[in-house]
Amino acid sequence: MKQDKTDHMTSPQNGTEQVKKEKKKMGLSTKIFIALGAGALFGVLIHYAMPACYFRNTILINGILYVLGNGFINLMQMLVVPLVFCSLVCGSMAIGDTKTLGTVGVKTIVFYLCTTALAICLALGVASLISPGLGMNLKEVEQAAVEQTDKVNFADTLLNIIPKNIFSSLADGDMLPIIVFALFVGIMLAKLGSKASTVANFFGQFNDIMMEMTMSIMKVAPIGVFCMIAKTFSTVGFSAFQPMAKYMLCVILALALQCFGVYQILLFAFTRLNPIRFVRKFFPVMTFAFSTSTSNATIPLSIDTLHKKMGVSKQISAFTIPLGATINMDGTSIMQGVAVIFISQAYGIPLSAGALATVVATATIASIGTAGVPSVGLVTLTMVLGSVGLPTEGIALIMGIDRILDMLRTAVNITGDAVCTTIVASQQKCLKGEVFERD
Ligand code: ASP
Repeated sequence: MKQDKTDHMTSPQNGTEQVKKEKKKMGLSTKIFIALGAGALFGVLIHYAMPACYFRNTILINGILYVLGNGFINLMQMLVVPLVFCSLVCGSMAIGDTKTLGTVGVKTIVFYLCTTALAICLALGVASLISPGLGMNLKEVEQAAVEQTDKVNFADTLLNIIPKNIFSSLADGDMLPIIVFALFVGIMLAKLGSKASTVANFFGQFNDIMMEMTMSIMKVAPIGVFCMIAKTFSTVGFSAFQPMAKYMLCVILALALQCFGVYQILLFAFTRLNPIRFVRKFFPVMTFAFSTSTSNATIPLSIDTLHKKMGVSKQISAFTIPLGATINMDGTSIMQGVAVIFISQAYGIPLSAGALATVVATATIASIGTAGVPSVGLVTLTMVLGSVGLPTEGIALIMGIDRILDMLRTAVNITGDAVCTTIVASQQKCLKGEVFERD
């Protein structure tokens, strides 16, 4: 990210000094990555080496680590609504005609739904092969209380896309109605042209301010990431993992196949871009999603990285990334697919082919209704389990270790959005190949 700001004209000598300086300076991505590892180590040390006392529990874990970690997420989330709104207005205004917007919209939604369905099939396949729930002794696992959860109603989800009151949608951070309203405003601004230039300029300039704020806040990302990860590992520990090792293996394997297999094949097939370069450039965003478990908070960084490092026009990403963070949850669907097989085996309730097809359909719909915030995947899992008559109490089995899997699946969720965005941008001729190729 720093690189963009160093493209100034310099004398050869100054240039060499500049390069030396740049080499000495550690990049933000490296810092975030180091923070991730150090945070995990620190968390494990707190969990195993520090006796439980007031200082450890109240001051360190639920005080310093909690406040700094969540403070950072709040800072990122503070930007999401104004940034999404302004960049969508600007994006749709720049595209202008409704026909192109419609094409982009349809392509994106079809891609999102197909990859989600594919992800669930992959998860069901992997879980059926490994059979994580076979021989599971339910008594060995600590039974936790399952929270009462609301079911996702598909008709209401569809209807709620149209905002009755845009101010309450903005206040609640309801992404879909915000997207609809912002697209509308952008199209009207394009239609009115110079008559509404003041408002158009306002949104353009406000958008720039939001992007600058994103970059300023990202400077403290390593601290936020360190605290988030340290807090998670200090509370989870490893003992909860042992009885669930096979289940975790299935989820992680399916997530890896989706992220580094399916997505990269699709990327190459549709755009001929180098998938390794894509992963390398997008890795900091994945790390960020991993440590925050929040697709929503990743939106500003994702848009910025796709623009600066991959050459994707913001006209496209401003629309597809927030939409994806809301309706495209491939990683979450993978967890749900594996959980269905796991719970059916653990409880000894076999599933027919028809039931598996129902799982694919419901989990795809659940993905649309899953908000991009931590642990919501568990909530919508109740709907998937209910659709095939599996006991929702089964969720208690996987709750204890879900925090770690949530981190991984969030990284996959946002990678799916980015791959789709890159493909759509390339098809709409809104991708600068030379930026993507640049190191
Ligand atoms: N944490 C996930 C996300 O933000 C949602 C979930 O699976 O719980 O994408």
